[in-house]
Amino acid sequence: MSDRMIPIPFENLITRLFTEYKKSGTVYGVHKKYIAPAGRELTIFGEKLETPFGPAAGPNTQLAQNIIAAYFAGCRFFELKTVQKLDGEDLPVAKPCILAEDECYNCEWSTELTVPQAFDEYVKAWWALKLMAIELGLGSPDGFIFNMSVGYDLEGIKLPKLDKFIEGLKDASDTPIWKECKEYVLAHLSDFSKVTAADVERFSPKVCTSATLSTLHGCPSEDIEKIASYLLTEKHVNTFIKCNPTLLGYDYARATLDEMGYDYIQFGRFHFEDDMQYELAVPMLQRLQKLADEKGLEFGVKITNTFPVDVKRNELPSEEMYMSGKSLYPLSLSVAMKLSKDFNGKLRISYSGGADAFNITKLYEAGIWPITFATTILKPGGYNRVLQIAGEFAKEEYGAFKGVSVDAVTRLVEEAKKDPHHTKPVKIPPSRKSKKEVPITDCFIAPCSEGCPIHQDITAYMKLVEAGRYLDAMKVIGLKNAVPNITGTICAHPCMSKCTRNFYESPVAIRAKKLIAARKAGVEYEKYLGEKKLHSIASNGIKVAVIGAGPAGIAAANQLSRAGFEVTVYEKRCSGGGTVAHVITEQRIGRDAIAQDIAYAVALGARFEYNHEVTSLDELRSAGFKYVIVAVGAGKPGVLKVSGCEPLNAISFLERVNLHDPSLNIGRNVAVVGGGNTAMDTARAAKAFPGVENVYLVYRRDKRNMPADAEELELAMSEGVEFKDLLSPIGYSDGRLICKKNVLGEYDKSGRRTPVETEEIVTIAVDTVIAAVGEKVDSDLYHALELEINEKGLPICDKNNQSSVDSVYVAGDGLNGPATIVQAMADATTAVEHIIKRSGVDISSNPVINEARALIQEMYDNTDVKDLIAKKGVLCEGADPGSEGCSNCAGASSRCLGCDKICENCVDVCPNRANIAIDVPGMQMPQIIHIDRMCNECGNCTIFCPYASLPYKDKLTLYNDLASFNNSTNQGFLLLDDTLKTFRVRLWGVITDEEPFTEHCSLGAEIREIIKTVYNDYHYLL
Ligand SMILES: Cc1cc2nc3c(=O)[nH]c(=O)nc-3n(C[C@H](O)[C@H](O)[C@H](O)COP(=O)(O)OP(=O)(O)OC[C@H]3O[C@@H](n4cnc5c(N)ncnc54)[C@H](O)[C@@H]3O)c2cc1C
Ligand code: SF4
Ligand code: SF4
Ligand code: SF4
Repeated sequence: MSDRMIPIPFENLITRLFTEYKKSGTVYGVHKKYIAPAGRELTIFGEKLETPFGPAAGPNTQLAQNIIAAYFAGCRFFELKTVQKLDGEDLPVAKPCILAEDECYNCEWSTELTVPQAFDEYVKAWWALKLMAIELGLGSPDGFIFNMSVGYDLEGIKLPKLDKFIEGLKDASDTPIWKECKEYVLAHLSDFSKVTAADVERFSPKVCTSATLSTLHGCPSEDIEKIASYLLTEKHVNTFIKCNPTLLGYDYARATLDEMGYDYIQFGRFHFEDDMQYELAVPMLQRLQKLADEKGLEFGVKITNTFPVDVKRNELPSEEMYMSGKSLYPLSLSVAMKLSKDFNGKLRISYSGGADAFNITKLYEAGIWPITFATTILKPGGYNRVLQIAGEFAKEEYGAFKGVSVDAVTRLVEEAKKDPHHTKPVKIPPSRKSKKEVPITDCFIAPCSEGCPIHQDITAYMKLVEAGRYLDAMKVIGLKNAVPNITGTICAHPCMSKCTRNFYESPVAIRAKKLIAARKAGVEYEKYLGEKKLHSIASNGIKVAVIGAGPAGIAAANQLSRAGFEVTVYEKRCSGGGTVAHVITEQRIGRDAIAQDIAYAVALGARFEYNHEVTSLDELRSAGFKYVIVAVGAGKPGVLKVSGCEPLNAISFLERVNLHDPSLNIGRNVAVVGGGNTAMDTARAAKAFPGVENVYLVYRRDKRNMPADAEELELAMSEGVEFKDLLSPIGYSDGRLICKKNVLGEYDKSGRRTPVETEEIVTIAVDTVIAAVGEKVDSDLYHALELEINEKGLPICDKNNQSSVDSVYVAGDGLNGPATIVQAMADATTAVEHIIKRSGVDISSNPVINEARALIQEMYDNTDVKDLIAKKGVLCEGADPGSEGCSNCAGASSRCLGCDKICENCVDVCPNRANIAIDVPGMQMPQIIHIDRMCNECGNCTIFCPYASLPYKDKLTLYNDLASFNNSTNQGFLLLDDTLKTFRVRLWGVITDEEPFTEHCSLGAEIREIIKTVYNDYHYLL
């Protein structure tokens, strides 16, 4: 295995293309096919163009199969990957080289092939597209354009190998590869049903009549002008000059990125000073336009190149990287706006920079086309995203280029700066990868479910909600979630931060769907549980005491009662719900939701005894309880020392708010110190408190580095809480909170910038200071309950959450300190499962559990993969959780992509098509095979695989030659002898020669079946 790609010979390229299409309707793994309506064309360079968009010079136009995949999906304008004097082995590209998780970065540059290899790839692709157009009926064989991209200096461009490249693309008819393609097709005409010899003779060898000139940063304007003049006069090609976003000047770029939340992106001034200056660019472009007019050629600018930024957080193995995608969009557009103003819209713009299905037709309507993209098709959905873009264009009028509308572009710039698809969220989302390693077979998982501490069966319950089967949805939810009303309202929803749709536009509204089920069938579900308890769940006679009626206690009571245990919950307060009921305000969650969740546990037989504080285990032992679950939360106030005042504690403040305490008076101006969720709740409650005018949130770091969830932070901001970032309180005097100002220091290993205290003092006039600085567990209570604690005061427990005292378990915030409701439930489940197991209680025929499991299976089995494929790549914002989905999803009622049924992210996002999914007889899921020869280790599949894995290294790899096999450590296989059907296989580090078709095969059944399937059904890959 190496990062060098081995191009596929034309014959194999074509065989695979058409064989795969016949077999599965896909082309190089792309599911979605675009058919261009006959006669609907634009014209540029005197050539026809069925759609004015396509892949930019980059990873998606490097190999012939990339171009084929893009064409199949609807692209018709191809900006071929740049060639330059440095190529092949001489060109160092650090790998991985692409990071497209959100805004995109790369550290790759021109083609990694040699210039002659690149030439062959482009000619092969040209032929393949012509054949596809006719054979697959995708459009006119003359309906697409290849635009060559050349760099970086005149001396290089004039070198014989580049000159040959340029001349060859201008007319390829005399080149060996052209002849090879032609001969192959003519010799195999019988393989085609529509392509004729006459068609083949008509294929134009003029592969490119245009070039985009790419220059390196720092290239002087005189040199750019010289090269462009050369291309126009000597090479006689229509020419676009690639402009850098540095034309905007440092201050504009910095201010725009800061305004949009990209303040963490670091870059120096030097590129802005070294690159071509705007004042010189304008007259130069005017001169070149004049020259092109004289030569009868088309001329314009390509806006823009990527944006050079510093590697600060180990993003890529390089010192500098190039930014593109959603954050480049406003900058590229700004360059377009500036130049359009100065040229009165007459300058032709070929656009690239963050274009996607949401914005691309707006660019076109402003007069900007052709448009190329890379980032959007490097994300899940991949090339399949293009069909939606083509669909958007179906509504557009086609006509001649009439100029760029300055007003429209100006409007787009302003819109972009505020558009959530382009701005950075206030908090950088957590990693979406799980901690598990990808299995070699059957790897599809739903990341949402993986991210949920109780692993809710999300895809199943959402489908039931969508089908209006609310009671069934509640049965599925209730299997693992004892408090669906509470979690439906205020769960921190870690599932949603893992959702694959984050890579599209926004997560599926998983939590809201749960609430719909709970609201629609909450009471019915309670009745259902009561009936099941009465008729079908017998008591097992084992008594369990639960201390605390918060989420952990309720969950434990619910699940144990369902399993037949006799459960009593002791709660020191007058009612249940714990922190949710007594601290979190009604502003956030209604008391009826909490009562309903407690009612489920009661319906299952749990007893709740309120106003009963447990202070020792003896009373429980003497009452006959065999097991105890301690779920007492973490309500001990954290302490903030501020000289000159005693801050109010946040928890007691919130409790008093909930109790409508008439003696509570916090004045007009309030400072809340802290940056967690409790601080946000406190600030919002203070803001809503009668008489309060200003609430200041004081925290030592900035918003981006606050521990609070993004949603909580945004709510506090939207309700008018004023954030006083980077302040550390040191005292209070004369009605003012005195703080030391911090600045952000260097990035630490976790990628966060550390706050560094300065001597600057900031004071804030406030009447009350509230401390929300982290609650603690009550270790005194653990002492009283005889539990051993560690140095942090936390109870020492084993992996089952059993404490140092046999049969006594701890769950919820009391286990590891303040966390979340769903984590509290997960802890309780761990304890409950252990109690069930050690008690020998048989739950295999439990009706509540089994009905839920049957529904989950039913939903999985009934999910039609075709529906999921229809949604692949489609960007779509659901209007509201109840009515998500749109016509783009082919009538599918939900935005959920059903990742547990079909993942294939690694297949979709690979620009080179180096991962494939194959159907294997007897295996439920398609299996992923990595194709060694096509991979350049760009790393893109790693970013989007939900596992902590690198698909290009960790999935079963198909090798095409022994050297590659020997050069790699990937598990995989190589065909040794086609007649004998023998394979060399590496599995778990052991190499064996195998005959999978005979009984002399030592492979496990699954791997063996996969290899046989590749041999039988995908022979063209071998
Ligand atoms: C202000 C605030 C906002 C929050 N917002 C969210 C949110 O939006 N989403 C989210 O997921 N999480 C949120 N959390 C966290 C969440 O509330 C807790 O993680 C969750 O309540 C923990 O549940 P628990 O059962 O472990 O503890 P608790 O809910 O604290 O319940 C413990 C119960 O034990 C009782 N108890 C204690 N000692 C005894 C005793 N000796 N005898 C009998 N009873 C006793 C207590 O009275 C209490 O009722 C928030 C927390 C706070 C403070
Ligand atoms: S798209 Fe659906 S299955 Fe995939 S992570 Fe999101 S909610 Fe889960
Ligand atoms: S398999 Fe992965 S690393 Fe290899 S080229 Fe494709 S996306 Fe890049
Ligand atoms: S990205 Fe690929 S390897 Fe990872 S889970 Fe999905 S299909 Fe499997």
